[in-house]
Amino acid sequence: MIRVDNVVKTFGGFHAVDGASLEIAQGSITGLIGPNGAGKTTLFNVIAGVLQPTSGKVTMMGEDITGLPPHDLFHKGLLRTFQIAHEFGSMTCRENLMMVPSGQSGETLWNTWFGRKRIADEERALKAKADEVLEFLTIEHLADHPAGAVSGGQKKLLELGRTMMVDAKIVFLDEVGAGVNRTLLYTISDTIKRLNEERGYTFVVIEHDMDFIERLCDPVICMAEGKVLAEGTLAEIKANEQVIEAYLGT
Ligand code: ADP
Repeated sequence: MIRVDNVVKTFGGFHAVDGASLEIAQGSITGLIGPNGAGKTTLFNVIAGVLQPTSGKVTMMGEDITGLPPHDLFHKGLLRTFQIAHEFGSMTCRENLMMVPSGQSGETLWNTWFGRKRIADEERALKAKADEVLEFLTIEHLADHPAGAVSGGQKKLLELGRTMMVDAKIVFLDEVGAGVNRTLLYTISDTIKRLNEERGYTFVVIEHDMDFIERLCDPVICMAEGKVLAEGTLAEIKANEQVIEAYLGT
């Protein structure tokens, strides 16, 4: 689904990503691991259009998407979530979901004057969709709560919910488990699994929690010093000498 071909990203003279190549299979939940500073986040940002690569190529379903801005990738179904959930705190959880799809009729002045019915119909459909998403996430009881007041883990679920409002095809998750308690971590990993199995989402996950990776990811790709070191099941990766050396070296 995604092919990364010899991607380099430098900052000044420093090679944060140094000729990384990898493939993400459609329908997989691929884990991206590696010691701090390996270049995982930078590579994510290059694939998701947040950063321009210095060189190299990224394709999605055979189409060159190198350097496309995030909003173009969003329309192709490629989404990236961030380590810090970006909710709008004073709006309710439902409203946070309802505002995700772009190009709503209510956004233009003409429609607010003359298209009242269309706006009302659209809002009804969006509300129904948001409620369906909240139910899938098993947080329907939070629909009318301000998003700023829910727990860190629930914010992460909401972040996953935002990807469902636009029917994403591939989602890049950056440390979705960071700072979340075990129980919620399992809820989050179960939700990712259900999105993968029931809705056909492909996921790429950066995560330090090996338990989380083990429950969820196959294959696992390990990066170090800007390059891909190894790919395989977590057991294979853990037994790989280059990987062990890379982790011990930090
Ligand atoms: P990881 O996600 O694997 O921990 P990063 O992609 O965040 O690694 O960082 C890879 C390397 O690139 C690190 O040494 C980091 O300090 C450096 N780096 C990342 N972003 C920048 C930036 N904007 N400017 C300069 N150096 C950066």
